[in-house]
Amino acid sequence: MGLLSEGSPLSWPETKRLAPHVQRHGIEQFINQFRRLKERRGDSLKWGDEVEYMVLRLNREARTARLSLRSPELLDQLQATERQDPSAAPSLWRPEYGAYMVEGTPGQPYGSIVSFFNTVESNMRARRREVEAILQPDEILLSITSFPRLGCGVFTDPPCYPTPTAGSSQSLFIPEEVIFPAHPRFATLTRNIRERRGKKVAINMPILVDERTPRPFIEDLSQYGDDGRSQRAALPDHVYMDAMAFGMGCSCLQITFQAENLLEARRLYDQLNPLCPILLALTAASPVHRGHLLDTDCRWDVIAMSCDCRTDQERGLEPLTTERFVIPKSRYGSTDSYISECGRPYNDVKLVMDEELHARLREGGIDDLLAAHVAHLFVREPISLFSEKIEQDDSVDMDHFENIQSTNWQTMRFKPPPAGSNIGWRVEFRPCEVQLTDFENAAFVCFVVLLTRVILSYKLNFLIPISKVDENMKRAHRKDAVLREKFWFRSDFLCDGSPSMDAEQEYSELTINEIFNGKGDEFPGLVPLVSHYLNAINIDADTRCTTGQYLQLMRRRASGELQTTARWMREFIAGHADYQRDSVVPESTAFDLMVACHEVTTGRRPAPALLGGLGTSRTENHLPAAIHRTPSLYKQDAQT
Ligand code: GLU
Ligand code: MG
Repeated sequence: MGLLSEGSPLSWPETKRLAPHVQRHGIEQFINQFRRLKERRGDSLKWGDEVEYMVLRLNREARTARLSLRSPELLDQLQATERQDPSAAPSLWRPEYGAYMVEGTPGQPYGSIVSFFNTVESNMRARRREVEAILQPDEILLSITSFPRLGCGVFTDPPCYPTPTAGSSQSLFIPEEVIFPAHPRFATLTRNIRERRGKKVAINMPILVDERTPRPFIEDLSQYGDDGRSQRAALPDHVYMDAMAFGMGCSCLQITFQAENLLEARRLYDQLNPLCPILLALTAASPVHRGHLLDTDCRWDVIAMSCDCRTDQERGLEPLTTERFVIPKSRYGSTDSYISECGRPYNDVKLVMDEELHARLREGGIDDLLAAHVAHLFVREPISLFSEKIEQDDSVDMDHFENIQSTNWQTMRFKPPPAGSNIGWRVEFRPCEVQLTDFENAAFVCFVVLLTRVILSYKLNFLIPISKVDENMKRAHRKDAVLREKFWFRSDFLCDGSPSMDAEQEYSELTINEIFNGKGDEFPGLVPLVSHYLNAINIDADTRCTTGQYLQLMRRRASGELQTTARWMREFIAGHADYQRDSVVPESTAFDLMVACHEVTTGRRPAPALLGGLGTSRTENHLPAAIHRTPSLYKQDAQT
């Protein structure tokens, strides 16, 4: 989840005092790096995925599934090869927010050769096996987006207890031990977000109203040791949560691409932006939080509220007296502007920024679009700072820039080359919820990578006003959004270039089925476009077969023929004997759900409603020997 600087974290008051220093120097570092590398060209397409996993311990007699807080020791083992020889590690392992989480990426990035699509799933499988090989017999590894009983009584192994008046989150529900302990970043962020905000975070998500859900649904929080403050922050008919762990303790699937040059990175950043809510809705996998069924299917808003460090003044609840800005969104949120020339007409949201920092960026030679983007990110103060990192050499270091950049957790991230590396300009695609199977995760990763190739080759333009993307984010959260919602989408995305005279005509409301599978003659659909591209580049038979299965998954899930993970989980819970139709997911139901998830992941339980018999063969995919003869995806101009 970002930069892991080593050292001793400063207190919030010390960090706050140094905020202008970090902001000013971060801007200088960006300017220097930009000047050095703005003309850098010729980087080849490289890409990689990040999968976040959770470790659970099952007790089959007691029928409990609890989060196993062993990730520090697991990571120590998982990173052993990398410590000796980074280039020999088949996978790279990193800590995540939860002491029950690990994050894995491929040891080497994938490249521009088409046959790499044939290796993603087996790489993910091997990655999963690396962890499984060191688990204890009653532990399992799951790629689930939210652990359903996070924050419910005793839900960890070993059992730990919340400390509402002490610790970094002071939560009624989350014990301190849940936060990854072996690096200070995670607890420091938690404490500083709370201290900066001036109170605990408040996450209110609408509850699913079932037959026996009490109305209004209002919990008595004094039973958890509340002194009245949480009760005041909790909304009726909502599930209330009060800690960063409820959000950052969720898992996701992310994809990073290296672009050929700066312009291409800016273009991809923009073009993928309107696809974020669409992919969020299609990957929806988290209908249960804090032991309750919600009326929403995705994690995004939960994390946004869980990291919301804005004060009441910044949230517009009180007049600005001591703060400088009203800031409309949390630092975990959807992006607020486009950064390529094409995007300019669609930047219809006013960006809050420090005018002095903006002026410095402009004076430093940064064009207005990028200067606005960076100045807007820098409206945030650093939320963690290490004493060893305060003084830096702005001509070579990038830590102050990265500090603020990496705590702006947005749907897309535009990533300048890191200091002193050989890496080019990159973009990261961050909205997707993680899926149960390696097949599904590989399918989404490959589909998004293929979309980038299609966008570049066919010069597609998906841009719609940013305010409409925001509206789509709201719709994406709703229960069964894939089937029930319409999304703003650009109808003439085949014509690249300047906006037409009547901008309103450029986009309309489409269902996800129409977006993916097309709408008569009006709209071709993303799946047929990717399919057309794959035909045009003439790929080998194995890769055709694999990508064919992935496209089928997209097509059938978008049409509703296959369920989202969220829908599948809802039906499992609704059909469970112990579920009382009161929106509460009891521990025994959660246990059976976790066991079922694991069986789906391992292929032991057929899940036709979820997977429809799809899947690639279980034999290990590998790059064909004649790799040099397979076509490259890079700058491949498909013949249309
Ligand atoms: N786990 C977070 C999520 O579900 C992302 C953390 C990260 O940026 O790696 O979105
Ligand atoms: Mg992560």
